[in-house]
Order: sequence, then structure tokens, then C-alpha cells
Amino acid sequence: MTVVEQTACILCSRNCGLRVGIDEGRITSVRGDDSHPVSKGYLCQKAARLAYYQDNDDRLEHPLKRTADGSFVRVSWDEALADIAQRLIAIRRDHGGRAFAFYGGGGQGNHLGGAYSRQLVKAMKSRFVYTALAQEKTGDFWVNGRLFGDQRCHITEDVEHADVVLFLGTNPFQAHGIPNARDTLKSLSKDATRTVVVVDPRKTETAKLADVHLQLRPGTDAFLLAAILAILVRDGLTDRDFLAARCVGFEALEAELRAIPIAEYVRRADVPLADVETVARAFGRARSACVRVDLGLQQSLHSTLNSYLEKLLFLLTGNLGKKGANNFHSAFLPILGHTDEREDRHWRTAHHGMHPIGGLYPPNILPSEIEHEGEDRVRALVVDSANPALTGANTAAYERALRKLELLVVVDVAMSETARLAHYVLPAATQLEKWECTGFNLEFPDNAFHLRHPLFPPRPEALPEPEIYTRLLEAMGEIPRSFPVLERIAAREPARTRHVAFLGALGARLATSKKLRPFGASILYRTLGRVLRTDRARPDRVSPAAAAPLLALAMELAQKDPVAVRRAGHRGNRFTLGHALFRAILDRPEGAMVTSHRFEDTWSFLKHADGKIHLDVPEMLASLRALANEREEAPDLVLIAGDRRAYNANQIFRDPAWRRVDPHGAMRMHPRDAHRLGLTDGSRAMCTSDAGEIEVAIEIDDALRPGVTILPHGYGMKYRGGPPIGPEVNRLTTSEHCDPIARTPFHKHVPVTVRAIA
Ligand code: SF4
Repeated sequence: MTVVEQTACILCSRNCGLRVGIDEGRITSVRGDDSHPVSKGYLCQKAARLAYYQDNDDRLEHPLKRTADGSFVRVSWDEALADIAQRLIAIRRDHGGRAFAFYGGGGQGNHLGGAYSRQLVKAMKSRFVYTALAQEKTGDFWVNGRLFGDQRCHITEDVEHADVVLFLGTNPFQAHGIPNARDTLKSLSKDATRTVVVVDPRKTETAKLADVHLQLRPGTDAFLLAAILAILVRDGLTDRDFLAARCVGFEALEAELRAIPIAEYVRRADVPLADVETVARAFGRARSACVRVDLGLQQSLHSTLNSYLEKLLFLLTGNLGKKGANNFHSAFLPILGHTDEREDRHWRTAHHGMHPIGGLYPPNILPSEIEHEGEDRVRALVVDSANPALTGANTAAYERALRKLELLVVVDVAMSETARLAHYVLPAATQLEKWECTGFNLEFPDNAFHLRHPLFPPRPEALPEPEIYTRLLEAMGEIPRSFPVLERIAAREPARTRHVAFLGALGARLATSKKLRPFGASILYRTLGRVLRTDRARPDRVSPAAAAPLLALAMELAQKDPVAVRRAGHRGNRFTLGHALFRAILDRPEGAMVTSHRFEDTWSFLKHADGKIHLDVPEMLASLRALANEREEAPDLVLIAGDRRAYNANQIFRDPAWRRVDPHGAMRMHPRDAHRLGLTDGSRAMCTSDAGEIEVAIEIDDALRPGVTILPHGYGMKYRGGPPIGPEVNRLTTSEHCDPIARTPFHKHVPVTVRAIA
């Protein structure tokens, strides 16, 4: 008999709500969930293939230990965790916390375990957390810190209500990233009163729906953005009232922008000057306008400068804090921190001297931090829900470095390329077998959080991450195996007291035991988690224990912003409001609204002490000035590495059968380039960069600019231990070709050569 259960898609950051039909333990149907507070029934074609994630031949069944001959043997959880614990303790004792690093802990919808895995970093007395976010977005976070006073001041965009939308380096038709992307794009495109502008070297599906497409030369975004800003200043299109009321530092910035040689910069971008002026005027004169950016901008040349310039577009025109503009948003799950390199120099890395941004370190530098000759090199690494051997820049460098580690532990659902190099591989329950959530709740004014209930019981020896890390901390002796007093209070705690007595007892315990303070998540899991119940969950599934730390987050949000939490429909006084929010999250498998703001609340998110936006960021003004002296380079062929297509999705799907089209992840190329290189549709070719070479299949695509070629991400997996399927695109990318501030790799601008092969 088919049962229908609610969950969310885990294939992109939108995490659309789903209703999944399940029959005899298998997914038989997938459709959009009308009751999801954000997606409201929307989904794209990818979600329908979710079964390929849940059931595939690379799933891990048991803990594995690598032997001297390189093969793996099955071990028990107790054996694996006891040995890992002893080896970690020895590394910490002999070399200190700087010898340990953690990588991952995420994916598109796998964030609940993050609260638990970060405890291990603290237990190891380390701060080295490397994540994919720091391969993409930390330049953006750094700019937010300088402009708004905190790297967590993240910006979202009200595309649905804007009169003018500027899409920069993003193709939401395939990459999504905005609410209900295809519906939103189609309605924008049909409305003659609204203007859509796309800036992209390729005529993407989104560009085809746009009013203006600026098909710029790759890597010239900074020149184009500087020119648009200079036109805004020259033509008096800045919002003087907004600048006077909300910003400081405009005079210094204005002087720089007035010096921009507009025509010359537009020539470098190789787009028509008249079109650029049209775009600048449309943006400057619109009642509301917003900018939506993604990796095409953030992983291209001048990455951090690009992030600064795109924000100046909406700031100089007063498009912040109103409907149809850019806005800040609330955050329920804290996925970022704030780290100012000017204040904390101690936690720079040994080899690169790299500082964290938002608490995160860039994967780009990790291989050399491992290979660094010296006492302070990284010796032990735990990789969780990530696959840097395939996704980090320069695959060969990653493989070499990972082999040199004294201890590599991988926690994953599948035997990934990184797992094959590990000393221990620990099988995690899939995202459909445990309580799970995403931290990408980036909506404004209404923001929601979706705690997903498990759809399936886990495989017998797979464990959810909260259990894995809690057991590991227990094996390391960091936390006791039981907390009798807290467990007793939690068990006695009737719902009507709203957990107040329990939280009081927990607070008292942590106040008297400094050693336990970093491990609040596991303590909540082992105590309150044991008695948490929800009537909406199936009794044969994992209990909601992993969600226990969300009580503390709900309490915090209710304390911080009670008005917005009440507007979202939750009731209670200052002691009980947080509990009401927590119960709503726990009891609504479709997701719950957590905050509802007014547009004017935007200003409460600003974190500079003077409550203003600081426009004159000295490092950025210097980078802007330096553009004038930058040599113009014209590689024979520029590769855009990492295209989002109809059937690719990070590394979540390993079974190649999930793709309906594009089985080889073809390299797309303009017909003129193909002709010049003697290639036709379906030709095999060798693509070579400074880092290495891979064989590719060619697909002719006149949507590209001549001189530009493109490969998708999410291929190259060695499914069932076989040869790589599709392009291992990071054999072509290098870690040195990167942003000087955030070390974000320039994946969207990789000089390559391509030659035909038999
Ligand atoms: S891939 Fe993204 S847009 Fe498509 S259904 Fe999944 S979450 Fe929604």
C-alpha cells in the first residue's frame, strides 16, 4: 500500500517541499507539497529522481577500516570509534589543535548534524573548518562584514516583486536559488512593465527570457559593474536621500567612480555601450530593483571585488530595505560566524597564513596546509558529507595530500572518492532516514524553517551524525555517557512547563562545568532528546532526539526578535514563546514559518555601531583602482568549470542512471571554436589546463560566446569503483588561480586548450 509522506528536495538550496509516495520501502512518486510555507507546491524535474539517492550501489552498510594493503575490512562501531578517539587524542596531545581540521558537514540539506560535528572541532581545540561555502561565497561574506558590520549580514533579493531584476553570473532557470524559479522567471518575462537583465557569457535559459542580455567576455564582470556604477554617478541616478540617511563614505567612493573610463571598461567587457547605459538607467530609475548573483560572478576573476561592486548597485540606488529590492533576512540555524582577520590573527593557517571568513577556511588551501613541511601542518582530517577529492580545486593535489594524512576519517552515506582514501569510513543514515534540515533559510520578510521527518528506517549499521559524533565524544572522554540529573528532569518535564525547568538545570550544569560547555548539542541529545516526541512522526522511525538543540535556537530567536516570531503565528510570553516555536517546528512536517518582518525592519539587521552602511571599504577601493592597470589577457579558450544543467546536482547522486540526458557531461563549445579545432557534435577531445588534462565529449552550442567553453559539475564519480563517469572537472582547476582575499578559486575562468582525439 502506498503511503504519502512530507519531506523536502535535497538537490539545491531551495529545498522545495515534497509529498513522497512510498510503497514497500521504495519511493514510487514525488510531487510538490502545497502546504510547504515557501515552495507551496513548486518543484523542478530533478526532485522526481530522488529514489536514486536513497537506493544505489555505493551506499555504505558498515564501518570500514583501511588495511595496510589498501583494502577495507568491516569493523564494529565500537572498534572504529575507540581507535579513532585514541588517535585523535594522541594527535592533539603531541601536536595541538592546529594539527586537526574538519571538512564539510553540509550539502544542500544536511545541516542538522553540523551542531554535533562542530563539537569535535572544539574537542580537538581546533578552529579549522573547511567547507564548500568557502569555495564559493566567503568573498561575499567578507564584503558584508565590511559594509554592514558583520559577515552574517547576508543579503537576499525580492525578485518576485522587483520592477527591474539584474541576474549576474547565474542561471536560475537551471540553478534555481530564487523562490519557485521557473514560475517567477516566466511571470517576470511576460510582464511588459518589468525589466529583466542577464549578465552572462552564455545565452542561458534565463537569458533567453530576459529583456537585455549582456553577453560579456568571461572574467570582465568587475569592469562592467564599475562602468555601470560610474554611469549611475555620472547621470545623477544615485539615491542621495538614501545615501545621506543610511550610508557613510560615499564621497570617497564617488571620487573613485567618477575616475572610471566608462567606454574603455565596457570595451573590455565586449558588450554594447548603449545597452550598458540602458541597463544603468533602468536600474537607477526603477521604483524597485534588485540584484541576484551566484557563482558565475563569485568564482570568476576579481571575485571579492565583484561582490563589493554588485552590492554597490543596489546600495547607491537606494534599493535596500523595501519591497522588490535587496534585503537582509533572519536566520534560524546559524551556518556562519563572524571572524574579523584584523582582530584575530592567531588562527591563520600555517602555510598560507589564511584567516577564516565567517568562521570558515577555503578548501582551496587545504592540500598545501596538509603538505606543509613543519610541526604545525594538518595531520588529521574528518570529512563529513563532502567529497573534496572530487570537488576541491586540483584533484591531483587533493589526492596527494589526503594520502599524506596521519588520520583521515570520512562520514558519508556512500563510498565516495574521498572515502576510498580514508583510514576509516563511517556510514551515515541518508537524509531521508533521519531528522534533518537545511540552514539555507534566506527569505525576507517571511522566513521559514523545515525540520524534515525521516521517511525510512536507517539501514541496520548506518547511524545519524548526531549519534556518531556523540559516541565519538564519549569515546574521547569529553562527555560522560549519561547525565542522570538532567535525564531525570527531562523525563519528569511535562509539556506544560515548556522545558523551562530543564533548561534551567542545563544552564546550571554548564555554568559549573566549563569543560562541558562546548558540548551542549550532545548533552541536549542525550537528555532532552531521549524524551522528545511528536505525534506526527511514525513510531517505527528514528526518534526526534537530534532536534533537541533546536529548542535552544528557538528560545534564542524568540528572545531576540519576539515581535517577528509572534507575527509568524506563534504565541507565548517571554518564557514560553521559544517553546511554542520549537513545538511548531517539531510538529509540522511540512515546515513552519519562524519570523515575519516588515521591510523597515531591515535596518535592525545592520551591525556597525553607528547603524550605517560603510561604503568606502579601503581594500575594495584599492582593488577598483587597480583595474585600470590590469593587463588585458586573451586566452585561446576559457573554460567555465561547473555548469548547472537539467541533470546534475553536486555529488549527492552517484548512480549515473539518474540522468535523463547528458550522460557524459559534455563540453559545450561554440561552432566557430569547434570548427577551428576540427571538432563536431559527439567528438572526443582532450582538454588541458595548467593543472592537468581530461578527456571530454563535445557538444556544439551556439549559446556560448566564441572563445568560451563549459563543463558541468557533479560528474566524475567512480560508481561501484569503476572508472570516472563524465568529466572530473577539478583535474583542470588550480588552487593558485584564486581571489587574493577569500582564496575563492576562479572556476569560471580557467584557461585551457582543447585538441581532437581519435
Ligand atoms: S532541485 Fe531545487 S528547485 Fe528543483 S525541486 Fe529540488 S529543491 Fe526544488
